[in-house]
Amino acid sequence: MNKQEQQITGQLHSIESMGLVDGPGIRTIFFLQGCPLRCLYCHNPDTQNFDGGRIVTPSEILKSANRYKPYQGEDGGITFSGGEPLLQGEFLAESVRLLKENDFNICIDTSGYGQKKYYSQIFPYVDTILLDIKAFSEQAYLDMCSVQQKPLIDFMNELENYGFHGQIWVRHVMVPGYTDNTKSMQQLIQTIEPIQHLVERLEILPYHTMGKEKYKELNMPYLLENVDPMDKEKAKEFEVYANVLLAEQMSKDRIDLIEKQEVESSALESNVTLEEYNKIIGCFSNLPLLQHIDPDILNDIQHNLIIKKLEKEEILFHSGDDPNYMYIIYSGAIKIFNVLPNMKEQIFYIYRKDSFVGGHNLLSDSKYWYTGEALLDSIVIAIPSKIFNTYFSNKKPVLKEILSQSFARIRWAEDLINRLATINSSVKTAGLILRLAENFGINKNGQIQILMEFDRTEMSNFSGLTRDSLTRKLGEFEELGYIHIENEMLTILNLDALESYLD
Ligand code: SF4
Repeated sequence: MNKQEQQITGQLHSIESMGLVDGPGIRTIFFLQGCPLRCLYCHNPDTQNFDGGRIVTPSEILKSANRYKPYQGEDGGITFSGGEPLLQGEFLAESVRLLKENDFNICIDTSGYGQKKYYSQIFPYVDTILLDIKAFSEQAYLDMCSVQQKPLIDFMNELENYGFHGQIWVRHVMVPGYTDNTKSMQQLIQTIEPIQHLVERLEILPYHTMGKEKYKELNMPYLLENVDPMDKEKAKEFEVYANVLLAEQMSKDRIDLIEKQEVESSALESNVTLEEYNKIIGCFSNLPLLQHIDPDILNDIQHNLIIKKLEKEEILFHSGDDPNYMYIIYSGAIKIFNVLPNMKEQIFYIYRKDSFVGGHNLLSDSKYWYTGEALLDSIVIAIPSKIFNTYFSNKKPVLKEILSQSFARIRWAEDLINRLATINSSVKTAGLILRLAENFGINKNGQIQILMEFDRTEMSNFSGLTRDSLTRKLGEFEELGYIHIENEMLTILNLDALESYLD
């Protein structure tokens, strides 16, 4: 035991070695002592008191976890429950750190009431939160648990800021006469809106009276004496209803987001000065894609082209739009992405100067599958479909170029799928750097350099890693001497080492 750990201890109420419902797979559950809530239905009232429990260290937790590891199988792991585990913040932070170092899957069963100052040391290590939502208004919280609801609302709003990137199982104990009605289910779904994109499972647990005896033993009044257990079938029906509401709310929010983007998108028309227009049109015939088009034709069509300046984050086209243009990127960068069901962006491609997008859609008359948005301030040249179909679509070199780009993009997409499918962050980071190098790298004095014009959030959306993991990994690669980052320029120092991750 090291010196720092000698000072950190926790109060452990009990251990359950084969928990089947408190997180994915088979769990070893550590019930910690002490809880600030006084839920009327609590079936573990013996864990509420802050005095008591066995004093343990994080090392002892790890030792027990290792002992039960064979039972946990591939999907299982450790769950901290209680009581309220977040109230032993320092002990929990050290325990989850140790457990994660030893590759345990970690769940925390909480009501969202704890010691905030330790949250950023705890939540980056947590895979699943079992979040108990007891009631759905300030008054109902006071009535049911004798605490205010606000700390829970704050907890949900701030959770991701503490570095939590896992999933949430929302649970609600349904007590007859309290929340066994559709209005309560609607309130439940509204209550969890801040975390809905992280919710993997929503469970309605029927109230039971199995803890009643403990109250007698502890000489505590049982305040739900006259309430019958909740009918399991009815609770199941409410669970189905609540899950449908949740799916509808998420879908509505997603549509709202897409509509908001649509409203923000402006109609496509040239918005450059005449001077800029002439300058850009002057370079038009030099674009690699158009090298094989008769200069007279290019001259004729020049004034049918639209030159569009886009500010960073401005939408060029939406998923589902008709292919009315082929776009050639004159400057800046355009990202191609989709909003996933969990509301996160997944970037598929980033197009830079002289790349084009939309040619294949015009040829096949298929709508865009993805949204195109300016990643940096950009200028694009839009070739209207009529011009494209009349002058370009029958030109073999143009078709060849569009097809060869399409193949390159399929390869890129396959590579992306492979990268996202791996859970190893070194592989994802190495893959990201190599792909950026291939597409945007410049060779300087025998070294490949990549100008990092995108912020880390964009890069993490591209790599399938969280922002923090990507930043950490880039730092590690820098320490290992694989790369060097200075003034937004990433230089590859050891290409072989990066490639070896993908072998
Ligand atoms: S939060 Fe859990 S342990 Fe605390 S009183 Fe409520 S049911 Fe009991």
